Amino acid sequence: MTLPPLPQTPSGGTLPQTSSGGTPNQAPSGGTPSQASSGGAPSQAPSGGTPNQVSSGGTPRTLVASDLDRTLIYSAAALALDDVPDARAPRLLTVEAYQARPQSYVTETAAGLIARLAAHPGALFVPTTTRTREQYLRIRLPGPAPRYAICANGGHLLVEGATDEEWHAGVRRRLAADCAPLAEVKAHLARSADAAWLLKERDAEGLFAYLVVERALMPESWPEELADWAAPLGWTVSLQGRKLYAVPRPLTKSAAVAEIARRVGAGTVLSAGDSLLDTDLLLAADRGWRPGHGELAAAGWGAPHVTALSDRGVRAGERILGAFLEAVDGAAQDGAQDGARGAGRNGARVGAPGGAQGAARGSAGDPAGAAGSAPRPRAAR
Ligand SMILES: [Mg+2]
Repeated sequence: MTLPPLPQTPSGGTLPQTSSGGTPNQAPSGGTPSQASSGGAPSQAPSGGTPNQVSSGGTPRTLVASDLDRTLIYSAAALALDDVPDARAPRLLTVEAYQARPQSYVTETAAGLIARLAAHPGALFVPTTTRTREQYLRIRLPGPAPRYAICANGGHLLVEGATDEEWHAGVRRRLAADCAPLAEVKAHLARSADAAWLLKERDAEGLFAYLVVERALMPESWPEELADWAAPLGWTVSLQGRKLYAVPRPLTKSAAVAEIARRVGAGTVLSAGDSLLDTDLLLAADRGWRPGHGELAAAGWGAPHVTALSDRGVRAGERILGAFLEAVDGAAQDGAQDGARGAGRNGARVGAPGGAQGAARGSAGDPAGAAGSAPRPRAAR
């Protein structure tokens, strides 16, 4: 799908066209959709402040580790606004451009919520994505730039935009010890994928591979057959929209989240995600949310502490962000009350059975928190 050049919002972002290809949604006159109530810089401001520093004032720190694509941010194809009359469609803010075209969006409301979350003194917001670093760094979320981010499904832990080399070297060692090499998997993909539906084949930072496929032409059984082939080699398969990922099993988001939780002394971990590659992230958290679309929803996947939302598309992003903020505000209030009672918990850890421990289950030493619970790759369009 191609989109013509689009008008600029007052903040410099662009607005996508409606599904009918008609008049783009109008930005609010004089408004700045990407700006939070704080009125700060619209996106990714250099970290001159310390919005994501570990709180030392006794405020409980909740780590919010969220997947991005189809969880917080959405491509035009994933907006799922078909049931909304064009005249009532939510205003959207472009948060990613690719080759000079708008690529990913959030609703105007979600933009404000992201900014609030990123600046919240009781929260550490950690974008947690399978994207490569280059793909991640294209995204310009509202609010202060997150101090930490997780890219390449845990293969890169970014600290103020730069990878932690020690973490990355540890991941490489683990993969070399436990999994078949990437070259073997790529060779199999090249042999077994059919040019009739294979659009692109990509190597993600030398860590894993993904294909861009024409879903309508790809046999539905192919991802499962690939998963069966890959499992004995220590690899997993995930199908997300037009992308099919082959990823080493120990390469997990939860392992990197556990490392950040350890570094900052986070007590509670919240997470959200839509795909099979998010299962370990969701299972390792104290509370999680998944949208009503995507691979996990298609599989009917769930866990007692994971809320399965019925919302689909870009509106699910709003719901997830609202839930994050409600939980963070609640934890901050609980912590303040504990402090007032002189509980003397100097580490400011929020009491959360299975919380820090849960995150630790996803540590590099035992990264497969989702082992045995992961659904099979299934059709999730
Ligand atoms: Mg996703």
